[in-house]
Amino acid sequence: CGIVGYIGLNDTKEILLKGLEKLEYRGYDSAGIAVMNENGVHVFKEKGRIADLREIVDLNVMANIGIGHTRWATHGVPSRTNSHPHQSASGRFTLVHNGVIENYDLLKREYLADVTFVSETDTEVIVQMVEKFVHEGLEVLEAFRKTLGLLHGSYALALLDEQNSDTIFVAKNKSPLLVGLGSDFNVVASDAMAMLQVTNEYVELMDKEIVIVTKNDVTIQNLAGETVTRTSYIAELDA
Ligand code: GLU
Repeated sequence: CGIVGYIGLNDTKEILLKGLEKLEYRGYDSAGIAVMNENGVHVFKEKGRIADLREIVDLNVMANIGIGHTRWATHGVPSRTNSHPHQSASGRFTLVHNGVIENYDLLKREYLADVTFVSETDTEVIVQMVEKFVHEGLEVLEAFRKTLGLLHGSYALALLDEQNSDTIFVAKNKSPLLVGLGSDFNVVASDAMAMLQVTNEYVELMDKEIVIVTKNDVTIQNLAGETVTRTSYIAELDA
């Protein structure tokens, strides 16, 4: 399983699909991407191989920001519906997740009793909670932080907000995730291998950190909202 993300000046589709192909070695049963442009978020996902996903991606949809996922199912059978990305009830938020949310059932009952779930995944709870807290009046970043504070388990996450078209919200706990740096673009990946195609400069993330990724900036924060500084490193790998 794995995650990729890209924000920059180029079209994202091929970068994301190539990235997911580089993560194939980690094992997966389904894959998907979400790309965002002036018309909103477009989700393409499929059970099976990246090659199957490629078949259904609409090449006419151009976008400079997107996220991708290979799934190793833990909650809910491998299926198109259970594949990531998952979306909130209104469609505003779109999420990919690697890992396991151990208390998803409790969170569902406690915070989301009025929400109709589309999938059987633990993941969908996260994206529905972010939306719920935003509806209750929190800013997106606050809603994201509050949600993360309530999760028990492991996660590498990338979140898109249709009303924040220049940002990828990222977080990690006990699942690998890196941010890759470029000029006029930045990327997200479970493994540097996935994004060596565009950059070899990476920033490692620590558990319980949030990252706000735009095309020119990467801001790392802890769950208290304090900014964290971290030096980047050069990945010495063959692409
Ligand atoms: N627990 C999530 C699911 O079953 C994510 C699995 C993964 O890491 O790919 O959908």
